[in-house]
Amino acid sequence: MTATGTPPEIWALAADGETILLRRPRPDDEGLILAMHHGMSAENLHLRFFGISDISVRETAKRVGTPDRPGCGALLALTHDEKTVIGVAEYNAEDMPDEAELALAVADAWHGRGVGTLLIEHLIAMARADGIRTLLADTLPWNRPMLRVIEDMGLPGRNRLVSGVVNCAIDLDTDDVSTERYLTAMAVREAHADVAALVPLFTPRSIAVAGAGHRADSVGRALLRNLKAAHYTGSVVALHPTETEVDGVPAYATPSLLPVVPDLVVVAVPASAVPDLVEECGRAGVRALLVVTSGLTPEQRLRVRTSCRRHGMRMVGPNCLGIAQTDPATALNATFGWVVPAPGSAGVAVQSGGVGIALMEQLNRLGIGVSTFASLGDKYDVSGNDMLQWWQADARTTMAILHLESFGNPRKFSRIARTVGRTKPVLTVDAGRSAAGRRAAGSHTAAAVTPTVARGALFRQAGVTATHTLGDLVAVAALLHAQPLPDGAAVAVIGNAGGAGVLAADACVDAGLVVPRFGADLEGELRALLPAGAACANPVDTTATVDGETLRRCVDRVLAAGHVDAVVLALAPTALGDPLGDLLTGPAVRERPVVVVAPERAAAVELLPAVGGAVPVYCDARTAAVALAHAHERAMWLTRPRGTVPPLVDVDRAGVRSLVAEFLARESEGGWLPPKACARILAAYGITVTPWRQAFDAEEAVAMGRELAPLGAERAVVLKACGPEIVHKSDVGGVRLRLVGDDAVRAAFADLAHRIGALMESVVVQPMAHSGVELIAGVTQDEVLGPLVVFGLGGVATDVLGDHGARLTPLTDLDAHALLAGSRGAPLLYGHRGARPTDTAGIENILHRLSRLADDVPQLVEADLNPLIARPDGVTVVDARIRLAPRTGHDPYLRRLR
Ligand code: ADP
Ligand code: MG
Repeated sequence: MTATGTPPEIWALAADGETILLRRPRPDDEGLILAMHHGMSAENLHLRFFGISDISVRETAKRVGTPDRPGCGALLALTHDEKTVIGVAEYNAEDMPDEAELALAVADAWHGRGVGTLLIEHLIAMARADGIRTLLADTLPWNRPMLRVIEDMGLPGRNRLVSGVVNCAIDLDTDDVSTERYLTAMAVREAHADVAALVPLFTPRSIAVAGAGHRADSVGRALLRNLKAAHYTGSVVALHPTETEVDGVPAYATPSLLPVVPDLVVVAVPASAVPDLVEECGRAGVRALLVVTSGLTPEQRLRVRTSCRRHGMRMVGPNCLGIAQTDPATALNATFGWVVPAPGSAGVAVQSGGVGIALMEQLNRLGIGVSTFASLGDKYDVSGNDMLQWWQADARTTMAILHLESFGNPRKFSRIARTVGRTKPVLTVDAGRSAAGRRAAGSHTAAAVTPTVARGALFRQAGVTATHTLGDLVAVAALLHAQPLPDGAAVAVIGNAGGAGVLAADACVDAGLVVPRFGADLEGELRALLPAGAACANPVDTTATVDGETLRRCVDRVLAAGHVDAVVLALAPTALGDPLGDLLTGPAVRERPVVVVAPERAAAVELLPAVGGAVPVYCDARTAAVALAHAHERAMWLTRPRGTVPPLVDVDRAGVRSLVAEFLARESEGGWLPPKACARILAAYGITVTPWRQAFDAEEAVAMGRELAPLGAERAVVLKACGPEIVHKSDVGGVRLRLVGDDAVRAAFADLAHRIGALMESVVVQPMAHSGVELIAGVTQDEVLGPLVVFGLGGVATDVLGDHGARLTPLTDLDAHALLAGSRGAPLLYGHRGARPTDTAGIENILHRLSRLADDVPQLVEADLNPLIARPDGVTVVDARIRLAPRTGHDPYLRRLR
């Protein structure tokens, strides 16, 4: 890692999916840089240098090749074999220390392939870390590509035409609104490039299978059989050291001998042979790999990864079941499982093959089928995020199902999921894996999240439908596939046996739905329709004697009355007939969802065909209710106003970056920041902590106390024991409040020193704050979804109070408001029993600033303001801590391959 935090080598995708390398120049790159410029057309050179002079070219090559000049930075783009420089971007500080001149040149053959944009995105990250606030670029007015690159960046700026040259100024020190726009523009480019790069994997024109040996029961042979059985539309060959034919397929000894270079090579050879084979594939020009082999050593793993990058190959696996693409134009089943994915509309990505088989089997059975399947295994390269991007662009996919045990880049996942979820449901199982991790964390904020914040709420905020079990996931998928979304939570339960209806109504209420009483009108209508003895409130008991036709009319009446958003039919077969069978002779889909609970059926969920579609039938009322509740949540998410991330003034991002770099240079493992650094970081983001001083002996404490709480004011001060080992000061009896007068301070110091002993290195002296409502506000990280802002009732009893809400960053105005309004302390905040309301705007402002800090500083793993004391006249933070970790040195949103 270099001083400014950019890793030395970044693999990334050009717009057409080609892998390229970005890195800082080295002194021996001068020749390569010259060669690129010498290969540029006269026109291209003119646009870059406003003239064609070999002197400027040589100067550039020399300048760029000289690393680490202060206020300057440069980045090269190279082909993935690293032999050719294809782009050079640099910034050079001007007269003003926070302004720099931007220059960009891209080799002719690489124009229009997004290399310039990628270089500038990464250069902007470098320049920002370097304290640059504005990049200036002088461009000829007819240099449309350059002007477009700058415009597409999505950052605010100004263009001025001065003596025939456009002076562009790009503002890097942006507010949140522009940051959002910039990140969105970057994410769109990423999705395009990603999809282009996955084409050879998921729609290959030709495949070679390596590892299909003599044994008919080998994984390779099973794979080959599945490929052939699915009638793959491209050509298939085998790689075999000695044979010329394997299972009826022509075989060749090495990739270089293949008559046609395959798009995809399936690797099922023993682990020890994988690295060499992967390298040979790369040399031969193969574009994608599926590695099913497991048990690679770390050394083999590194070689495989390196070969993939250096030859620009994308890879699924290793240690996986395979991939499938059911589009008849491709008809690819490169899995070795026994389940054949049926063509359909669910995109499925799993980490473990077993879960994949189970899901495919269920989706086949339900008639939903699979569009693209990927078992990602150890995910050296292609990840769940890549799959989401693929499905978003894939017209055949109408829902995305992800079952992953780990996520590589949570911040990206929650952004991508939020985008994909707008058009297609994203389903996953929330195994609550990170609970233990959070328990182990040190701060109140982190510990608070586990017991009291349902993770479901976080997934919901990200637009992800997260169920507790795989079974529930399948149940929801069936409903979303076959029925419309319910607009609200009101459900009518209609049963032909009283007991089943009551059970179904209870299950709906347990799942968070409501079963409202119908109005008198509707009850009257139903009474006219149903036999005597029927119960016509909600739940409706039709009695066992009704036929399917009457049931159907009953459903239609209930829906037409408009009191409910969904209907649950609890049906039991009777001696008189089969009401479910009758029902299915009618329409499957109405304007609102209808589901059936039929306890006598064997399958947990079925999609039974009716006219124009299918009706979901569940054997257990709980499953049906849970599915409806999830569908309702999705409908609410889609229609809920998204709110805006308010712009913040007084944010010194560059200042914080250097403070963070300074701390991590000293503490390579990271840790809790000392009080001073913590206060400085918060101050840089506009959060002020109550004045405080550090004192090392009693007399110093007395002097500080006098300074902070001068005579005349309410003189009370506070002493707090301080030392790197002391995380929660009250827990060790390390906080002494309301100390009035020098003697009291002296005595308190002696008492703390005596009781706490060597753990105490100093004391913090603060004025005593006026009393108010004690709150907690903080930041913690979710392994799957990224940073969260946490809020609730605080103080030393915060864990006991257990009142904590959390929202994903970036926090919108509506999120902040919901955190306050949803808190159990809300009555205290908004005014209670004649008490004046507290400064809620001030509290929300602090939450927004924490959100921004968490997003700007990926090294921040926890922040904990506890308590902040809220009063009508303002908010005071009396205790704050921040923990940093080195693990994410680079900007998590930058486009890069792993
Ligand atoms: P810790 O959280 O490490 O135990 P705090 O600094 O939060 O230590 O202090 C514990 C409690 O003492 C707070 O919850 C608050 O009630 C009270 N307190 C701390 N500092 C002040 C202060 N400056 N003014 C008023 N009350 C304070
Ligand atoms: Mg505290």
